[in-house]
Amino acid sequence: MGWRVYLYAQVTASVLFTQLDCVAVPARLQLRHQAMINYPHETPPAAGESILVAPGIYWIRMPLPFALNHINLWLLEDADEHGPGWTIVDTGYGVPATHELWHRHFAGIMGGRPVKRIIVTHYHPDHVGCAAWLHEKTGAPIWMTTSEYLSAHAAAEDMAGFDRDNSARLFLAHGLGKARPDFAEAQKVRSGAYKRGVPTVPKRYYRMMENDEIMIGARTWRVITAFGHAPEHATLFSAGDNILISGDQVLPRITTNVGVWGNQPEANPLKQFLDSMEKFEPLPADTLVLPSHDRVFTGLHERLAQLREHHALRLAELEAAIETPQHAAEILPVLFRRPLDEHQLVFAIGEAIAHLHFLWRAGRAKRTLDAEGIYSFQRVA
Ligand SMILES: [Zn+2]
Repeated sequence: MGWRVYLYAQVTASVLFTQLDCVAVPARLQLRHQAMINYPHETPPAAGESILVAPGIYWIRMPLPFALNHINLWLLEDADEHGPGWTIVDTGYGVPATHELWHRHFAGIMGGRPVKRIIVTHYHPDHVGCAAWLHEKTGAPIWMTTSEYLSAHAAAEDMAGFDRDNSARLFLAHGLGKARPDFAEAQKVRSGAYKRGVPTVPKRYYRMMENDEIMIGARTWRVITAFGHAPEHATLFSAGDNILISGDQVLPRITTNVGVWGNQPEANPLKQFLDSMEKFEPLPADTLVLPSHDRVFTGLHERLAQLREHHALRLAELEAAIETPQHAAEILPVLFRRPLDEHQLVFAIGEAIAHLHFLWRAGRAKRTLDAEGIYSFQRVA
């Protein structure tokens, strides 16, 4: 893949490259917690099939045209005064292959019953891509948080600093032009990748907010918003039977992408991400987690601990590496030990800046701007 995917990279913050990130975790960390994370279903649902993961909750999968080749979606049995139907959580990448699978589900597990509501956890294309299409087909309202709804519109229109050039400037200011001399030229290739996955953005929505309680069928789901991966990512928790629909915020095995992008060049998203993990700590030990990628699992607290250790280790390694001033592009090999292709590179540089900003904001590193306009970071003492 070439630089044409750049805009996609900028606005999706997918978890593609972070699979590499996890590879670098020492085996002892993997082993300590991995044994306590259990997957009740060994095999995920095949295309067009579903798996019942709890009463009234079905797991389906849609394909993605990337290295991370799938997203999990959830069908929740619902009912209102007009009778039984469904609430859908997340919608899939907005391409004909996903539409075709939706038609199979409508006629299959969904039994022709109506869709009552479409919940979208966040604005990334694999989650919101088919929302407008589903709304058009079913008439069901779309529920999102306001930041995610507006970000989808901004990303689709290159507004509000979501444009490719804006992030390119940031990455050049972190040394990417030195590490990859072809970067500036390559990023000029016209893109529009967000719209490839989200051809139409919904024009009306119902606003979800922190702590909202949503009745879906026999369950009440509480909205827990989380930060660092997306601006106001919604997750849903059912306290009646301890089920968490975690979106991209808590994933098993692979780590969520947490990056700095052009429209918030001074951001500290890794702190936001780690702080958001605190919101899941009070949930019960037996919580069944329904993540957007990989498999349904139990062992939420083990996974949270593993993620904390993972990031603490990466931060410590990074701190050791910046004994002398380094820019973000220079420290990529510290965080990512395999070669990065162009697509992975933009995620990687965003994530490297996020880790450096964490150290900088925590007073563990100082930042300087050189005469060429490039930021360097050096550890404090
Ligand atoms: Zn995402």
